[in-house]
Amino acid sequence: MRTSLLVGFAVSLLVIGAVWSQAAQNQDPEIISKTGVHWHATVEIYAAGKKLAVPESLGVGPSYIGAPGYDARIAMSAVHTHDASGTVHLEFAAGPVRAADLNVEGFGALLNRSHTSLGSPAQVIVNGRQESNPARYIMRDGDQIALHFE
Ligand SMILES: [Zn+2]
Repeated sequence: MRTSLLVGFAVSLLVIGAVWSQAAQNQDPEIISKTGVHWHATVEIYAAGKKLAVPESLGVGPSYIGAPGYDARIAMSAVHTHDASGTVHLEFAAGPVRAADLNVEGFGALLNRSHTSLGSPAQVIVNGRQESNPARYIMRDGDQIALHFE
């Protein structure tokens, strides 16, 4: 009798622990998706107020080895462009996708690898609203993002 009570108690603790740990994971603001995302944002790039073209094939090819989210199997970064339209693909086939994988800082790092050294953006305007913490802004599906470098 006493043994079964103890076993019951231990099982309850395990269940509570598992539920608690699951809840803690769900609340982790650093995890944006556990299964991957395929989002598209549109960006405009300005340097000293002058509009620059968004590079095509940004993040594509082995020159981006070591860039954030670079996947050697497809030889491209999860964050990339195909054409010069300004459409940025945020394409993670699997999770977890973290805030750091999607932030403006990572996109800026790709830009700095592509041709010019722009540094990090002084001002980021998302859907018409200025972000108070530009580098940390997490790019989302459908965003219109203007990146202003000095
Ligand atoms: Zn895409």
